[in-house]
Order: sequence, then C-alpha cells, then structure tokens
Amino acid sequence: MRQSKLFTKTLKKAPKDEKSVNSQLLVRAGFVDKLTAGVYSFLPLGVLVLKKIENIIRQEMNDIGGQEILMPALHPADKWKRTGGWDSIDILFKIKSRTGKEYALGQSHEEVVTPLVKSHSSSYTDFPIFVYQIQNKFRDELRAKSGILRGREFGMKDMYSFHLSRDDFESFYEKAKQAYLNIFNRCGLEAKITEGSGGSFSEKISYEFMVLTEAGEDDILYCSSCNYCVNVEIAKLKEGQPCPKCAKSKLSLGRASEVGNVFDLGQKYSRDFDFWILNENGGKTYPTMGCYGIGTTRLMGVIVEKHNDKSGIIWPREVAPYAVHLMPLGSEDKIIHTTEKIYEQLCECGIEVLYDDRADKSAGEKFADSDLIGIPTRVIVSEKTVASDSAEVKERGRKNTKLIKIKKLNQYLENLLC
Ligand SMILES: [Zn+2]
Repeated sequence: MRQSKLFTKTLKKAPKDEKSVNSQLLVRAGFVDKLTAGVYSFLPLGVLVLKKIENIIRQEMNDIGGQEILMPALHPADKWKRTGGWDSIDILFKIKSRTGKEYALGQSHEEVVTPLVKSHSSSYTDFPIFVYQIQNKFRDELRAKSGILRGREFGMKDMYSFHLSRDDFESFYEKAKQAYLNIFNRCGLEAKITEGSGGSFSEKISYEFMVLTEAGEDDILYCSSCNYCVNVEIAKLKEGQPCPKCAKSKLSLGRASEVGNVFDLGQKYSRDFDFWILNENGGKTYPTMGCYGIGTTRLMGVIVEKHNDKSGIIWPREVAPYAVHLMPLGSEDKIIHTTEKIYEQLCECGIEVLYDDRADKSAGEKFADSDLIGIPTRVIVSEKTVASDSAEVKERGRKNTKLIKIKKLNQYLENLLC
C-alpha cells in the first residue's frame, strides 16, 4: 500500500475529548474515528488490525470444532420477553418501529441461537454443537468511556455450545479456556483467568480473562507465584494476604480489563425455549449450554494500552496492520528508484508493506508518523544505504539498526516475520 493513497491523515495532537491512551493513539494515527461517544468508525489501518484479530480468533475457534454463522443484530422483542432479559437487562437497547413492533439490538445472542439450534437438531447424535459469530453488538450505556474499550456499539466474537451431559460440557469448557489463552497470547497479551460472578447471564461460576492495565474497569487480586486470580467483586480476601492456592506470595491488587469471558449457562435457555432432545435411553434432555465471548474491538484497544511508548503504538507482529514500513529518505532519483524496486520485490513475495512514498514530507515527519502508526519493522533507504546496495532495518521500539544487502532483504525479512 502506498501511503500517499491512504485517505486518512495522522494528527499531531489527540482531540480533547479522547481521554484514554488507546483512543488518543488510535485516533491520532488514523486507525479509528469517533462518530459519537462510544461509537467508532474503523478506518483502513484499523480494519486491517481488526481482521487480523478476528482471523486469530477464527482459527482457534475452528480448531476446537466451532462452526461460524452470522446472526442478525435486530431481534424481535418476544424472544427477549420469553427469557426475561427484556425487563432485567438494563443495558439492552430497545427500539420501536413505526408499526409499533418492538425490537432489541443484540448485546448477546442466546435468544436467537437457542431457537436456531433447536430448529436444526432432532437427534442426540447431532450433539455436541458449537457455533460462533463475529459481529457488532450494542449496549445502552449511560456513559461511554475508555475509547474503544467500552463502547455502545462494539465488535464481538460470541460462541455457544450445546451438550447433552454436564461431563461433555465441562470437558469442552476447559478446551475453550485453553483456546482463549492461545488467542490472547497470539495478540501479545498475558491474560489471567479469574473467577467472576455470572452477572445477568447465570448464577453459576463464570471465568473472566483479565489483562492488567490502568485503563481497565475491574480490580483483581492475583498471585505473582502461581496463576491464582480473583475479581475483588466476589473475593473474600484482601490485598497483602497470602495466596490461598500456593501460599508462596502475598496477593497483589491490580486494575484490569476483561478481554474475554466464558459462562456456564446451564439449562436456562434450553428450558426457556422448550428445547429438548430424546437421549439414547429415550429420556427427555434439555441441552446444557455454554457461552464464550471476546470483545474484538476492545481487544484491539487493550493491545494498544499494553504496547505503546511516548511516540506511538508498537503493534505485536501477528496483529500489525503491515509487517514492514518502507521509506526513502531524500528525493534523489537513485533513492526513489531503489525504494520502488524494494517495494515491488517485497510485494511479490507476499510481505505486507506500507510504503511511505509521500514526496512532500520531511524525514522527521515520516519518522514521527511511522512511530505513531507502530508497524513492527521499518526499512529505510537513504543515500548512505544506496551507496552500499543496502537498506537499513529497524524494529519499532528498539534503538539498534541493521544494514542488509538489498538482494538479501527478502530472505532476511521472511526469517524475521515467521
Ligand atoms: Zn499463588
């Protein structure tokens, strides 16, 4: 991609109303644009990152048997009235059509997926069933804050599982937890699994995946010697008390952002929708359900909160919008010609390159934009490098640079990228 063709421009300063680090950097660098509080557009660079995150999630969900579907965002009210959510969920967005018919905008999809799976399953041999989607969700928040960490409209992956026995559910629950840890790890995040309260969804134990960050909205107690971690909302312990699991360390208190959750829904929704199956012995069984969420746009915000410095974003490689930021320093024919050749050669072997071909920008402006946008590897072509048939390679966030011969550049970058 030629940077001169990007219709978005970087900003020197963040808009005054953007308070959080993630939104300041993402707005300034041209990844997102705020339409109104808690509602953001995703711009070309932002869409590239979001698609990378979504594809990591897709791979991990498909690996544990998930089948991708896409359900509507607009739900008839009667489904929500049937489960009690219409009156009990305060953040449910409700709208009325001109014919007087009422709808909800989905904040979760149990009310749609349960009757959907019911109508497509008839025998116990159809089970277990795992379906998921990646789609926009809505929450009628009183106050939207923290940039894309807590929006009124946001991207989410939600998976639902249906099982004919508790044992089957519990073994899948563990698999899903591991898949979640893989996802966060690939996104450059260290997530802690905490036991949380089920909230409006369930009275059973749920697990939340927490990433320590000052931008978060939850407080967690965690142990630095083992993986013990608990949300203070339900904790019976206090900061400084010994860890109840390993007793090796005292519990620390930290702010955290919830990037994912898994809920044991039990038989609540299968009973609400009178969804039962005759089991092997001819008895009536209501499927046990699990629900597994990851906020995709929030995840992008948390990645930025964890990976930045005073100059801008530092994308982890697997979610970066481009692998390489290529830029010529100087406008001499030889420099431009060499950079064009490198651009072609990298594109040909499938390396994703953002090429800063803007002729009207100084070296200082190009460097500042490059630091702000945060592509992990920068390749610079200058008078000095051209003289030795080389280009200079530098990692974002590191000081040292390497001079690499142009004919060996593809090989060098390919090794670096995988
Ligand atoms: Zn411990």
